[in-house]
Amino acid sequence: MTHYVFSTTMMTRKCCRERTSMGAQSNKLYIGVDLGGTFVKIGIVDQTGRILHKFGYPVNLDDYRTSILTTAIESVRTVFESNEFKFIVGDHKIEGIGVSATGQIDSDTGIVIGAAGHIPGYQGSHIKDRMQEAFHVKVTVANDADCSLLGECGHGAAKGCQNVVMMTLGTGVGGGILVDGHLLKGVRGTAGEIGHIIINDDGEKCSCGNRGCLEYYASVKALVHTVKTATKEGRLELSLFAVPGGNRSVIYDVDGLNAKVIFDCLRSYKDKTDIKIEELRGIVDSWDNHIADGLVSLVHIFNPELILIGGGVSEAGEIFIDPIRSKVLSRVMPSFAQRLRISTATLGNDSGIIGAVDYYKTRN
Ligand SMILES: [Zn+2]
Repeated sequence: MTHYVFSTTMMTRKCCRERTSMGAQSNKLYIGVDLGGTFVKIGIVDQTGRILHKFGYPVNLDDYRTSILTTAIESVRTVFESNEFKFIVGDHKIEGIGVSATGQIDSDTGIVIGAAGHIPGYQGSHIKDRMQEAFHVKVTVANDADCSLLGECGHGAAKGCQNVVMMTLGTGVGGGILVDGHLLKGVRGTAGEIGHIIINDDGEKCSCGNRGCLEYYASVKALVHTVKTATKEGRLELSLFAVPGGNRSVIYDVDGLNAKVIFDCLRSYKDKTDIKIEELRGIVDSWDNHIADGLVSLVHIFNPELILIGGGVSEAGEIFIDPIRSKVLSRVMPSFAQRLRISTATLGNDSGIIGAVDYYKTRN
C-alpha cells in the first residue's frame, strides 16, 4: 500500500521539530486508529491528546475481499514507514496503539463480537492480537462511540463532566455512556448500543433482527432516505435545496441530497414562512421526535448532566440541535431537566483517534 487519501500535519513543521525534541525528555507518543466500515484514519498523538499528523485510507477498495482488519494493519504499517512518521517520531518509541473500531467490541480481548452493519469478514476479527503481533507494542480496542465519548470528555464538549450520554448519528445510531466518571462497559464491554432501543414494537425490521429500533428512525440515513422519497414523489422540489452558499449541483440529482444539504436549506429558510419549506420542516420535526424518544428514556435512566450529539450532522450546529434540545427538555420530568445541557460534539472527525488514545491510557 503506497497511496493514502489524506496526510495532514496539524501543527507547523517548526512546532513538530520542537515537539520531537521535547519527546526525548517527557512527551510520549501514541498511535490512534479510527477503524470505520469504509475508511481508516490514523493519527500520531502526543500525551496531551494533540494530533501531530493524520493519515486516511479506504478499507473497501476490493469490496472487502481483503479483510478490513488486514487492510487496517497494512495502513498502520504504511504510516510507520512514511516520511512524516520518521520526521515526527524520529528515534523515540511509540508507547502503544489505541484502536477505535466500529461494531460491538469485547474491549478485554479486542475481538469484534457483533457487527450489525454486515461488513463482510469483520465479525470475529482479532484486532488486538493481530495488531500486537504486527507491531510489537501494546494495543487496546474499544467501540467507536465509546472512544468518541472519551475524546469529548478529555478534550472537547464534555470536559470535566461525570455523567454524559453521547449519541452519534450517522448510517446508524451509536452511543457511549459515562456514569459517575466511568465509561459504562457491561459484562463484555458492549454496553451503550442505544440505537437498538425499541421505540415501536410494531415497527420496521432492523439490522439487529428486532423491529422498531431507534436506529431505523433516528439515523441520518433514515432522515436522508425520507427526504429523498418525498422529493421523488414530488412533495419536495429539488430546487428548494439550491440555497446560496450550498451545493447547487444537488438540484440536478436526488442522490446529491445529504444531511448538510438538508440543514443548509433549513438555515436558509429560517424565519421564513414559505409553503415550499413546510414539508421539509415536517420531515425533520418527525425525525427530531424519534431522536427525542430515545433521549428522554436515556435521561430518565442515567440522569446525565450532558447529552452530546456527535456524527457529521452535528456540524450543522444550532439549526440541528435546538429543536432536539427543546423537545427533550420539555418531555423529561422537571427535576431531570434542571441540570441537563444538550449540545453538539466539538471534536468532529478527530474524536475517534483522540478517544482511542485516551482509552489506551486508561488501560495502561
Ligand atoms: Zn436494532
